[in-house]
Amino acid sequence: MRDLDVNTQNLVLQQTVADHVVMHGTGLHSGAETVLRIHPAKVDNGIVFVRKDVTDRNNLIPALWDRVVDTQLCTVIGNKDGVTVGTIEHIMAALSALGISNAMIELDGPEVPIMDGSSLPFIRAIEAVGVRQQDAPLKVIKILEEITYTEDDKVVRLMPSDHAEFAITIDFSHQSIGRQSYALSLDGDSFTNEISDARTFGFAHEVNYLRSLGLCLGGSLENAVVLDEQKILNPEGLRHNDEFARHKLLDAVGDIFLAGTRIIGAYDGFKAGHAVNNRALHALYANPEKWVYTTLAVQESPKAAQLATA
Ligand SMILES: [Zn+2]
Repeated sequence: MRDLDVNTQNLVLQQTVADHVVMHGTGLHSGAETVLRIHPAKVDNGIVFVRKDVTDRNNLIPALWDRVVDTQLCTVIGNKDGVTVGTIEHIMAALSALGISNAMIELDGPEVPIMDGSSLPFIRAIEAVGVRQQDAPLKVIKILEEITYTEDDKVVRLMPSDHAEFAITIDFSHQSIGRQSYALSLDGDSFTNEISDARTFGFAHEVNYLRSLGLCLGGSLENAVVLDEQKILNPEGLRHNDEFARHKLLDAVGDIFLAGTRIIGAYDGFKAGHAVNNRALHALYANPEKWVYTTLAVQESPKAAQLATA
């Protein structure tokens, strides 16, 4: 990687929340009632989680790719003292989509509350207080050459583009899912309008198995789409015919934001989940000649999502 000389005028700026946000919900795996608070943070802070219930060790966990300690059921980050925060991907997707670069996220437990299983409650709560621009340009990652991570039949590619674009294809043998694709650019409100309400999903036999292990204790039809062998069990059905692909795209936006900033480039995922998303970020940082840090010129809208490279 190399830093570019920049003219500091008319650049997209770093942003934080304009005021404090408080949310109450349930941990998907722990089942514990959890209070989440999002606080404004200073320039270059990044997104940092704070475990307020942990007082005898370092309770700060930066939301970064090299802090990921588990990706089996959700994305979990941790610090050297073994303090972890799980299920961060849906709030990370909301922060990325709203162009929040700096925030302190306090929790009184080990897991971000699942809310309704989507990113929409986080989007709505942050929009209610607003977003504040800060007095420093946003540094983004611009992909110069394709980076591909492959594992079995799963593929993640990060390709050059002038926008932050995401495309995903999923392929499940279940008749209610099958093969689905979805693509969008993070420009404008497309994430909020098309993706943010897509819920996480799971299979009833897996839910029962996880419960036998003491996991998924907070999981219910209120916060996930659940399928048995034949059908969708939620009485209200789906929010979109392709809600499954939309949710996997939502997860990818959240997981890829663990790069530490927005990536200007095209993410293309095939059967990609939390594990390969994180390994793709390891591949990104292992190939620093294939990207640069740069800043972005403001287009007519001040919203950070309206991006063009400087
Ligand atoms: Zn998810």
